[in-house]
Amino acid sequence: MRLLTRGVVAPLLTPLLPLPLSRRLLDVTGYVLPVPRGTRRTATVLGGVPAERVATPGSDGPHQVLYLHGGGYKTGSPRSHRSLTAQLSRACGAPVHVPDYRLAPEHPFPAAVDDAVAAWRALRAAGHRAQHIAVLGDSAGGGLAMALALRLRAAGEELPGSIGLISPWLDLDLSSPWVLANSGRDAMLDADTLTPAAEDYRAGADASELAPLAADLSGFPPLHVVAGADEVLVGDADALVERARAAGVPVSYTRAAGMWHAYPVFAGLLAEADAAVAGLGAAVRRDCAADRVRVAVVGAGFGGIGLGAVLSGSDVADVTILDKADGVGGVWRANTYPGAACDVPSHLYSFSFAPGREWTRRFAPQPDILRYLERVAAEHRLAPRLGTEVTEAHWDDARATWRLDLSDGGSLEADVLVPACGQLSRPARPRIPGLDTFAGPVFHSAEWDHDVDLRGKRVAVVGTGASAIQFVPAIVDDVASMTVFQRSAPWLIPKPDRPYGRVARTLQRVLPAGRLPARGFWTLFFETGALGFTRFPLLTPPFRWAHHAMLRRQVPDAGLRARLQPDYPVGCKRVGISSDWFPALARPHVDVVTDAIAAVTPTGVRTADGTEHAADVIILGTGFATSDFLAPMKIFGPGGVELSERWRDGARAHLGISVPGFPNLFLLYGPNTNVGSGSIVHMLESQIAYVRQAIAAVAGGAGPLSVRPDVESRFDTEMQDRLGDSVWTGCQSWYRTASGRIVNNWPGLMREYRRRTAHFDPADYERP
Ligand SMILES: Cc1cc2nc3c(=O)[nH]c(=O)nc-3n(C[C@H](O)[C@H](O)[C@H](O)COP(=O)(O)OP(=O)(O)OC[C@H]3O[C@@H](n4cnc5c(N)ncnc54)[C@H](O)[C@@H]3O)c2cc1C
Repeated sequence: MRLLTRGVVAPLLTPLLPLPLSRRLLDVTGYVLPVPRGTRRTATVLGGVPAERVATPGSDGPHQVLYLHGGGYKTGSPRSHRSLTAQLSRACGAPVHVPDYRLAPEHPFPAAVDDAVAAWRALRAAGHRAQHIAVLGDSAGGGLAMALALRLRAAGEELPGSIGLISPWLDLDLSSPWVLANSGRDAMLDADTLTPAAEDYRAGADASELAPLAADLSGFPPLHVVAGADEVLVGDADALVERARAAGVPVSYTRAAGMWHAYPVFAGLLAEADAAVAGLGAAVRRDCAADRVRVAVVGAGFGGIGLGAVLSGSDVADVTILDKADGVGGVWRANTYPGAACDVPSHLYSFSFAPGREWTRRFAPQPDILRYLERVAAEHRLAPRLGTEVTEAHWDDARATWRLDLSDGGSLEADVLVPACGQLSRPARPRIPGLDTFAGPVFHSAEWDHDVDLRGKRVAVVGTGASAIQFVPAIVDDVASMTVFQRSAPWLIPKPDRPYGRVARTLQRVLPAGRLPARGFWTLFFETGALGFTRFPLLTPPFRWAHHAMLRRQVPDAGLRARLQPDYPVGCKRVGISSDWFPALARPHVDVVTDAIAAVTPTGVRTADGTEHAADVIILGTGFATSDFLAPMKIFGPGGVELSERWRDGARAHLGISVPGFPNLFLLYGPNTNVGSGSIVHMLESQIAYVRQAIAAVAGGAGPLSVRPDVESRFDTEMQDRLGDSVWTGCQSWYRTASGRIVNNWPGLMREYRRRTAHFDPADYERP
């Protein structure tokens, strides 16, 4: 590596090369050096200075890094340092902001310092506390970091939480004896390169910011210095460390034997460089550690468990999950009806960060999904407070916290409130006259009464939605007779289900990545459906053809076929997936009744035409109360404003997550996040990633945060415009309120939602 540096990199810095070429070639080195997987680089502007934001997976912590690149004040850029900044992002667990500051000789001192200060102030203006920002730099960038700190102190502004310097160039006079002594040993730099750079940068100026070694460093934040013992600038590092220690500054110093100038740029290739970067990362995490935020999550279904899992072990959040049920799982604990299963293949209906190994079939049955959620909760040591309903939540202006009132009479204080109550967790019981006079058992599919023995009974099933489609075929062989009351026939496509044999199940355990192709295939399948339902109706005929083909094949009776023909556009209600619904209804002891129900009598169900349909048991497959989000819980924001009052005309929230005027409130599976074709778990995972960043921002001092009304309003207008063109306007369904507003569904692809929720932008938020 030393030879490579001397032979390839060092010549790029020599003043013998034309400057534009030198800059260009140096940029290229940034593309050659290794970058961690998943690194994202975003072009930004910080205080008018073009910059890059470098983030690696897991780097969305509350603290930030401002990185000032080296290059002798004349060369270098975010591009030349793309490898080092990405390695530092991973080590620090933070995004790294790299300003493309102005270079000499075109822009001599103080242009670069001005740009560094502008970038710093922009980060502060974005809501980041000074304590939570680390300023790092290498070589000339190290000098700039010190100049920035001196400028801030002179202006009476807060200093960064941590300063990290790699081979800092602090003495423009090059007076250290090491400059000459190490000129032959340093693989990267020599005095001949430094001298003209110093002249170009200083351009005759004389200011204390140009001589940080002479400055009083008392009151400086912790300082972490890394230098190679063989480098020409090691004397600068030695002198700085000595002065800082004398001034009482906490200092760590890595003086690496045998290493040359700025050797950490080779992180990923050189063990000493890896160690230096890891050391700086650990120091930044320690120095910039944020306050811990108390997060209350209401609901222990996929949403609550997923967020809890992602935040478990977090540096910034203490999470309390509450659920009124007596176990985790949400709908997958409640819905135990025979045949309950997901209608999205499990490889897609599970978290990408927690591969499932419970699946006994492609479309996992309810017990598998419940076991999966219980395992994820146990593995992340989540211990929800069960049997505890949150009845009300009140924002306390003075304390800037939420107070939750609990069903057991207690209360809980939290900084952030995350309702993860689901859209389908409250069974809807129809208001049928006489229902409570029925002499036999009546129960809802989501509250299945397993004590009722259905064998030999006459069973009335009310409703033909997604649950009935599953439980009717599962019980039809047990019952003496069945009457299915259908208001509108569902569209159906065949269910390509199959059991997983021993080999497939072993593979789930030993090769979790083996699920990825299936995940990709099913994502494509459902996204195509979503495109058809929202933008390109021409994609929907295959759904109709599949329904008709199955109907023709499975139902010989023309009269029944006619009754099983939907009278609304395909996709307007959730398309059912079942290969055994039609055969179940075609059984001789099953009757499908399409006349409206007039009343329930003690002995059966009477339809509008006056016919009495005798029954021993009534099962309500009547779905869920979906438009009163969060009910019956009441949420009172600042000034006592109640959320359901605010939502009188229909629930709405920015990205389905944030509501203006309700600080530090982030919803999971909120308004307009349901998909007509796709996996809710996929959507929840996007929300979880966003909320995690929001919590980090609150912990980092940006909060309390509530979304700006104009941002939410723009989003809502867009949603309703796009939903107006969707298939969901073509019928009444659980996606719409009584007034016709579509409050449940997302009008695009899961992919678009993931993209739009990938980055939490503090600029979309304001303090109350
Ligand atoms: C039978 C059924 C099948 C489904 N199949 C699919 C499918 O195949 N694919 C798909 O994408 N989606 C499916 N869904 C949708 C399903 O709702 C979501 O996929 C997902 O499970 C939602 O998870 P959640 O955590 O958001 O909500 P839920 O699972 O509904 O959990 C919410 C939890 O919040 C608790 N809670 C609510 N209010 C309070 C309160 N005030 N205090 C304390 N606790 C409270 C509830 O007790 C519940 O446990 C199905 C839904 C049902 C009902």
